[in-house]
Amino acid sequence: MAEPLVGMDVGDLREALGAGEPAFRARQIYEALYRQRASDLIQVSTLPAEMRRALAARHPIGLPEVANLYQSTDGTRRYLLRLEDGRTVETVLMPEGERDTICISTQVGCAVDCKFCMTALLGLERNLTAGEIVGQVLVVARENQLRQDGGRLNIVMMGQGEPLLNLANVVKATRILADPAGFGLSPRRITVSTAGIVPKIAELGAEPVRPKLAVSLNASTEETRRELMPITRKYPLKDLLAACKAYPLRPWEKLTFEYALLADVNDSDADARRVVKLLANLNCKVNLIALNPGPEIPFRTPTPERVESFQRIVRRAIPCFVRKPRGLDIYAACGQLKRSAA
Ligand code: SAH
Repeated sequence: MAEPLVGMDVGDLREALGAGEPAFRARQIYEALYRQRASDLIQVSTLPAEMRRALAARHPIGLPEVANLYQSTDGTRRYLLRLEDGRTVETVLMPEGERDTICISTQVGCAVDCKFCMTALLGLERNLTAGEIVGQVLVVARENQLRQDGGRLNIVMMGQGEPLLNLANVVKATRILADPAGFGLSPRRITVSTAGIVPKIAELGAEPVRPKLAVSLNASTEETRRELMPITRKYPLKDLLAACKAYPLRPWEKLTFEYALLADVNDSDADARRVVKLLANLNCKVNLIALNPGPEIPFRTPTPERVESFQRIVRRAIPCFVRKPRGLDIYAACGQLKRSAA
């Protein structure tokens, strides 16, 4: 079958319809897919029946299927979604009071090989298409009747994969999600997280429509970061920080640095002081997370006292928050996405 409809922008849809059709038809289908979240062309009653049939015969809609759903005692839901080629990825919904956050994947597996992350054990299987990135949001929003307006919904690209190694598809998906005629979410409510693919940070910064940027720091020295995140050998910490410094923030925007605390590896007071020095000239905040442990992960979680001490030091200079793990009991928390049954 030809290319699926979900993931197409108005230009792609115009092409799919063929030259004979008026331009407004492509816009109608675009709005039906992303605004009204039609899961079947047959529902799109604004289109002539013949056009619906002809298009459906040529293009599948291309929404992923829910292969499995794991429900945490804290309200978090981990979806195992099956893609067109039978591969699966994970998408996590985290409801929290007045807001909902959907954590989506950008690749099947991951090539980056961070030593504390279980997704690394999968290796990289392939990039997700723009449609598969948007499709995760559409399916989880549909399954939970989530609304995109009113500022309740947030999207974080922090699931499986390294988003900046699939930048073109991440950007195309973001355009659809942030388009008022498309999914209609404010770009302030979309965040992409990177392990630090330095040249791609500048490329992302040049995009007119882009999510907010979070950078996984995870160490206070070049040496420790090399051990925890081998990608540091290719993109040293100093180059990463220079790219962050050069990144064109929008007036309302700050960079986020994420820091997973590993007992006796990167969690000392001296580490905290070095983090403050590293980030001194950046308009940023820091999110700390105590390691989510896993059977194959050779690191330990620091005590709450250690986490608090680290936070206290960083907070003197930079806004610094501790993130609570979500969905630990169902392998849905940061670094745990590797299709475990639970
Ligand atoms: N590849 C991107 C997107 C994944 S985001 C990135 O590296 O940023 C996943 C976040 O979870 C990253 O900040 C990562 O450092 C963090 N993480 C990975 N494994 C973890 C674990 N076991 N415990 C806590 N955080 C973890």
